[in-house]
Amino acid sequence: MPVLLTVLGSGSAGNATLLQYGEARMLIDVGLSCRETTRRLRAIGVAPERVTAVVITHAHGDHTRGAARFSRRYRIPVHATAATRAIWPDAGVWSWGGLDCDVPADIGGFRVTPFEVSHDADAETVAFHIETAAGGIGFATDIGMTTSALRTRFRPCRLLVMESNHAADLLQVGPYSASTKARIAGERGHLSNEALARFIREDLGASVECVVLAHLSRVNNLPEIAALTCREALEASGRSDVRVVVSHQDRVTETVRLDVRPARSGSDLFPGRQIALPFQVPATS
Ligand SMILES: [Zn+2]
Ligand SMILES: [Zn+2]
Repeated sequence: MPVLLTVLGSGSAGNATLLQYGEARMLIDVGLSCRETTRRLRAIGVAPERVTAVVITHAHGDHTRGAARFSRRYRIPVHATAATRAIWPDAGVWSWGGLDCDVPADIGGFRVTPFEVSHDADAETVAFHIETAAGGIGFATDIGMTTSALRTRFRPCRLLVMESNHAADLLQVGPYSASTKARIAGERGHLSNEALARFIREDLGASVECVVLAHLSRVNNLPEIAALTCREALEASGRSDVRVVVSHQDRVTETVRLDVRPARSGSDLFPGRQIALPFQVPATS
């Protein structure tokens, strides 16, 4: 039974990602409307009432828009930090669940550790390290920059979902005002293709097998440019084996599947050598 990650939608018009393992089905953000989230879940064969939990990264509308209604309609708990709950303009979720930075919690069938990232929501923004039966998943959208905490938490992961918001030069020549450009490019704004490429060259963990590019700007980026910048960084660091998936805003992105590896036997510790213990190992007290 594999672990499945499906980006239902990603970008400034709304974000939602589904993580599944058997009966465990967790949504990260419900920034699409409740109706659209429902439609996209059904399109991939998932009944919305079978979602086991919602976790929220931060209180920007493109991450929370449909969450309260979705929670009420299908009776699903919403996990958010206390500070995010305090400023959420659309409270009235069916049931609140906790979320504390740097504290691992069992949520909806997954072990989730939120940690703070650099972004300009009024309450803290979190990214997630998620432990699954198939290994670690790192999830970080809406980050102005990578931090040492993010680099440390993402290093042992198999799958990363990371922001690749804009091409730096397209942002600069684009239609936004100077103040908006400064906000997006700032340390509490959004991660550029180039900043993600730097992370890949300098900090990508050896165990990472797939990178999902998320929260692409439709104004200041192109999927082809984001993918190319990422692939060039992977090739430059000898990691062209890593798969790159570009997520979409207006439709469901292809599901990423992580197969659960069989438990390692003792002989795997010494590849090519047969290990035989000639004596009984005494039980320790
Ligand atoms: Zn966002
Ligand atoms: Zn945001």
